[in-house]
Amino acid sequence: MRRKFIAGNWKMNGSLAANAALLSGIQANLGSPNCDVAVCAPAPYLDQCRGALADSAIAWGAQDLSAHESGAYTGEISAAMLTDFDCSYVIAGHSERRAYHGESDELVGRKAARALSAGLRPIVCVGETLEERESGRTEQVVQRQLEAVLKEVADADLVRLVVAYEPVWAIGTGKTATPQMAQEVHAFLRGRLAARHAAAATQIQILYGGSMKPDNAADLLAMEDIDGGLIGGAALKAADFLAIIHAAA
Ligand code: PEP
Repeated sequence: MRRKFIAGNWKMNGSLAANAALLSGIQANLGSPNCDVAVCAPAPYLDQCRGALADSAIAWGAQDLSAHESGAYTGEISAAMLTDFDCSYVIAGHSERRAYHGESDELVGRKAARALSAGLRPIVCVGETLEERESGRTEQVVQRQLEAVLKEVADADLVRLVVAYEPVWAIGTGKTATPQMAQEVHAFLRGRLAARHAAAATQIQILYGGSMKPDNAADLLAMEDIDGGLIGGAALKAADFLAIIHAAA
């Protein structure tokens, strides 16, 4: 039985003061959630997350990492640096990084492998653009993105992978895939995972991301292959993030 997992992606938002208020607001009404919860913060605030969340049910993680181990890569952040701050998770291949920073499928695969070898759980994002969906290429695109990652991951590490299906046209737009549309893609992704390793496929959490909010979370999370959410905008408001967590739990 897969546990649901709700992960917040703060993107490039926050400040010491705003994060402190957000984290204490979440913790004040979290209770003991019957699901996994994490926040993915901008790197400068990971130490703040560690301080605030160390004894809580909330894990923390980063939004990106370098595919390199260490060395002359100015501005990059290594997997080992993230584990120094006790991160559990790191997002790899968010569509904003693919679109604005030219990240290729192959690079995302190497990032995921680097995260796994450092003991981090990568949340690997896949998803089609509107044009790709409208031209009937959704499955082709997400399969290509997923296979580039699976190619880099050893069988034994597969269960530590988290996949996030994030249709690009739904991210930050207020447009959400219907539960049925999302379920179709999730089931397809699980099928691809099963083709690689049947047992692991039953355990890998596949999250939905793209304008998940308190008012649509329960319907999305009720679908068989939707194991949680990667939440952008709604993760910045304690009440909204909590409502989604409670819908999952
Ligand atoms: C995201 O950034 O991963 C995301 C899903 O954003 P939003 O929830 O704002 O659409």
